[in-house]
Amino acid sequence: MGKCGELAKAAKAAKTAKTAKAATSSPTFAIGDQGRVHQLQSVAGQKLNGQIVTIEAAVQRETELRYQCLFTDGTRKNIKSSNLKEYVPVTSTSKDDSKNNKNQEDPCPICMEEVLIHDADSFRRYTCCGKIMHMACSVDMSESNLNHTQKFSCTLCRSKNPSEGSKEDLARLNKWIKQGKAWSMKMLGDRYSEGVGVNKNDKRAAELYTLAANLGDINAQFDLGYMYANGQGVPEDCKRALELYTLAAEQGSMDAQFNIGGMYVQGMGVERSLNKAKQWLTKAANQGHKKAIEGLRRLG
Ligand SMILES: [Zn+2]
Ligand SMILES: [Zn+2]
Repeated sequence: MGKCGELAKAAKAAKTAKTAKAATSSPTFAIGDQGRVHQLQSVAGQKLNGQIVTIEAAVQRETELRYQCLFTDGTRKNIKSSNLKEYVPVTSTSKDDSKNNKNQEDPCPICMEEVLIHDADSFRRYTCCGKIMHMACSVDMSESNLNHTQKFSCTLCRSKNPSEGSKEDLARLNKWIKQGKAWSMKMLGDRYSEGVGVNKNDKRAAELYTLAANLGDINAQFDLGYMYANGQGVPEDCKRALELYTLAAEQGSMDAQFNIGGMYVQGMGVERSLNKAKQWLTKAANQGHKKAIEGLRRLG
């Protein structure tokens, strides 16, 4: 559970955030959003300013996030986030399509059972082919009689597994990000959040989590909620934290359900309500969340 402060502090933080946003007015875009190009001209002097582009992917560069943008004439350019200033509302159909496709995953290649992606610790992802496997099945395999090369390679495509934060790891994640895969945005966000292979940068982590969360990634929704609850890389904002936790909780995240319960107990970002707290804690407890079970017992 994050600190999130008392209500007065949360309200103040929210106000500051609003002012800051109005000053810089450089919104974070999600895949499928449309934005207007500012401060940019082509080499041939062709006017790009004012054109509306569709964001197709986020591309991580050394110092800045860029968006792969599709122009109305069919051309594509990578544009710095600071050169896209205005969010243009788009008809919701294309966004809904990407949302419908978001979390379709193949079963675990070892046991062929479903992998529950709302429990981030229960599976691992291979960045070579993008497939997921139960953590338990992965551990079984590494304790088996396979030779060293087999153990540390993808069971599906036989690629050697790179270590987290290595050049190969980051290159693979950027490749998937260009293809619009929410999980890769979340994973690169983790690298920035933990400072693995890149300089620790909470702001960059929050940007990547925002992209992934907008595409429906449950674990990014939870992590971004946590960042808003704690003011990490984003201004502290309990209301936004609650919104994000709710998105994750409705997709089945028991940690999010537990945190929402806690916010209702303490009246953070929401009017205090023990009834609602119990409802959320019960959802988490039903999934075996130990702290939620304990919390319910204490509430009586
Ligand atoms: Zn399995
Ligand atoms: Zn693979």
